[in-house]
Amino acid sequence: MEHYRYIIVGNSAGAISAARELRKVEESGSLLMLSEEPHAAYSRPLIAKHVSEGKDIAAMQIVPHEFYGNSGIELRLSTRAASLDAAAHTLQLAEGSVVGWDRLLLATGSTPIIPPIPGNSRSGVYTFATYDDAKAVASHLPAVRHAVVIGGGFIGLSAADALLKRGIAVTIVEMQPRILSQMLDAAASCIVEDAAAASGAVVMTGRRVTSIDDDKGPGTSVTSVVLDDGTRIPCEMVVLAVGVRPRTELASRNLSVGRGIIVDEQMQTSCADVFACGDACQSRDFVRGVSNVMAVWPNAVTGGAVAGANMAGLSRAYEGGTTLNALPYFGLSIASAGVVEDDSATTDVVVAGGKGSYRKVILRNGVVIGMVFAGDTGRCGLIHMLMKRKVRVDSFKNVLVSDSLGLLSLPPSLWQEQVTGQDVLDSGKQ
Ligand SMILES: Cc1cc2nc3c(=O)[nH]c(=O)nc-3n(C[C@H](O)[C@H](O)[C@H](O)COP(=O)(O)OP(=O)(O)OC[C@H]3O[C@@H](n4cnc5c(N)ncnc54)[C@H](O)[C@@H]3O)c2cc1C
Repeated sequence: MEHYRYIIVGNSAGAISAARELRKVEESGSLLMLSEEPHAAYSRPLIAKHVSEGKDIAAMQIVPHEFYGNSGIELRLSTRAASLDAAAHTLQLAEGSVVGWDRLLLATGSTPIIPPIPGNSRSGVYTFATYDDAKAVASHLPAVRHAVVIGGGFIGLSAADALLKRGIAVTIVEMQPRILSQMLDAAASCIVEDAAAASGAVVMTGRRVTSIDDDKGPGTSVTSVVLDDGTRIPCEMVVLAVGVRPRTELASRNLSVGRGIIVDEQMQTSCADVFACGDACQSRDFVRGVSNVMAVWPNAVTGGAVAGANMAGLSRAYEGGTTLNALPYFGLSIASAGVVEDDSATTDVVVAGGKGSYRKVILRNGVVIGMVFAGDTGRCGLIHMLMKRKVRVDSFKNVLVSDSLGLLSLPPSLWQEQVTGQDVLDSGKQ
């Protein structure tokens, strides 16, 4: 049996960040990285550009090819870890062999939820989670005039935006009363819906797809979908984007699992030598003060870095993450973080905006606990920094949604004492 000092399952945001940090602490221990995908690490948020612009995976790679060799990483692509025996410190690979490890990281990410709609596996129905999904969508486009995207979350909108750019007529069907309902409040959702409509999308909210049909007989490609009110929408492509779920299958027999793999402050699971990070795990949400699945790229990177350092023997605590997201769809920038719905009993809100623009910051006990921006998102990095550091902002809260917001518009006592911290400057520039 081959044995490694470290094994990382996954080869994306969390895995690469962990490996990088691990190698800063320990240069030599053997490190095996496994990915069931056939590609070296790439940016998942960029896969839509393959559909919209034909961008190749080389333009999406998050580390240069030499990274693996230079970092002493043995990368095995197209290799799935099939089962874990945490007590024996072994992993069984799908091709049959067993590998041993001293320390293991599960950076297994998430998988698209497949809604149980009759016809969901017909030809012409796609998920949108990997570069290969984007390739499959792009290669089917010559046969498509109309696509239906099921789900108005950020992955659905990413697919819809890319398809519109290719001249495809797009209908977005969302079960909730509004799109991006987890990321935005009602006012901002409305602005995004207007932007989607202005780009040519039809947005149908409060509706469910009840079947995906193939009117020309079994084995042919999808020809329409039917909604719960009986409306039939002709289409040659369906994209399923109703959400993702953490990939916990390796952990479920051995480790504590809630919605995601449960980790402590050190990103360590219920087994001392097994760590987890990214979409696969639930970790500390510094806004809500609870353990939460926060399936966004920055959390995978920051949590992965802590896991990597601790796997190599340090004792670093994860300061926590939150549901931070910034997206550019339908020619509109949107960003949000933390709590997005205010509640007049416990929160204080500052709001500003005009046509097509919206800025809202939510405070509790004088501290920022959430924000929603649409239109101009240039200063969100700075607000996120204030949020993360739990800076009291009640004395200058109106500045947070003003045109003049910048480091220098904050009280001097704040930036003078913090300006030496490089991370403050970096956040402020985002
Ligand atoms: C279309 C799209 C757009 C997005 N846009 C944004 C955005 O704008 N901003 C943002 O913050 N986030 C965005 N996200 C989410 C972001 O991509 C994820 O939060 C991030 O990729 C999570 O990183 P991760 O390392 O945890 O896991 P993942 O990126 O999911 O990678 C996990 C990897 O592990 C592999 N794996 C899993 N199990 C096994 C196994 N048993 N054996 C071997 N390999 C395995 C998987 O195949 C996968 O390659 C987007 C996601 C998608 C799909």
